Amino acid sequence: MRITIPHIGNMYIAFRSMFNGVGVEMVVPPPTSKKTLSLGVKYSPEFVCLPFKLTLGNFIEALDMGAEVLIQAGGPGLCRYGYYARDQEKILKDLGYSFEMVTTELFESKIVGVANLAKRLSNNAPFTRIASAMRFGMAKIAAMDDIERTVHQVRARELQKGTATRLYREAVQAIDDAQDGRTLKSVTKDYTGRLRAVPMNTEIEPLIVGIMGEFFIVLDPFSNMDVEIELGKLGVEVRRSAYVSHWLKFSLFLNAFGISEKDRIHQAAQPYLKRDVGGDGWESIGEPILHRGEYDGMVHLAPFTCMPEIIAQNIMPTIKDRLPVLTITCDEQMGRSGMLTRLEAFVDLLWKKRTSRQMERAPEGRVFSVGLK
Ligand code: SF4
Repeated sequence: MRITIPHIGNMYIAFRSMFNGVGVEMVVPPPTSKKTLSLGVKYSPEFVCLPFKLTLGNFIEALDMGAEVLIQAGGPGLCRYGYYARDQEKILKDLGYSFEMVTTELFESKIVGVANLAKRLSNNAPFTRIASAMRFGMAKIAAMDDIERTVHQVRARELQKGTATRLYREAVQAIDDAQDGRTLKSVTKDYTGRLRAVPMNTEIEPLIVGIMGEFFIVLDPFSNMDVEIELGKLGVEVRRSAYVSHWLKFSLFLNAFGISEKDRIHQAAQPYLKRDVGGDGWESIGEPILHRGEYDGMVHLAPFTCMPEIIAQNIMPTIKDRLPVLTITCDEQMGRSGMLTRLEAFVDLLWKKRTSRQMERAPEGRVFSVGLK
């Protein structure tokens, strides 16, 4: 049985490791590309959001490579993404593909559901083997996320632009190749050390910009046109609102005990939005309030036609004392040069804001100069 999952950032690495660990072959679709996007756009209803189109494109490419079982997230608590598996199944069957569609129902069944799914797909592998494969997959995701956090710091300060990104790509490959926990630990240590040793400008205090918005787009560099790398090139340190390891830890385990990683964000959003509106809309209101005084600004990534993010975007201008926010609407019409122009203008404004704040606080006669990168 050859299974596949659509791309969301590097999540396939953890899933491949987990499924290979229980003897199930996983077909990884080619990295999401313009071809993936045009396939998705061609066979999707026009009004659906980018995650639908891209994951449909991933499925078509995986089916062409021989995938037989498609795994898609599903169930309540997921905005309309919860229905996507059924719609995509119908579209793909109409196209003549033969396969089984399986949904994870992550929010309802949590860790037990994923373990049961692995058991069924692996032809009854023992739970001890499943648990160890899952642990190793999660460890890979955690290692990638830790390295990525370091990359965000280094990118903003590195003297030779592009070094951190190159090391990060090498690290991801090495983590993917690691076959046991020991190798994984040594690879993580090695690349963290190499990143810390990158020659950096230690004099500057980079702008801190948060990346928030819809989960899929925040995690998927193709959808957001490498917004983190582009901000890094402008000398900005990025703080991302979502990491897969963190999300999995809460979704699979801690939420089952009533512990939510989002309580603080929801609390901050309360005066403006009192309830969940699906997707990540509630969080997009809370983030720029929660992090004021800590970040210089935030980039809000919102897929076109995404109702939760549209709600958030419309509430945002009414928020008092929030951070400056640049909303970028992402869809198949988005162009890289348009996005870069807006990022440059936003960064320019943030520098001016920081400079004027420093001037206000400066003792008389003292002049501050803040260089734009
Ligand atoms: S949150 Fe928005 S973009 Fe994401 S799947 Fe739901 S509707 Fe689509």
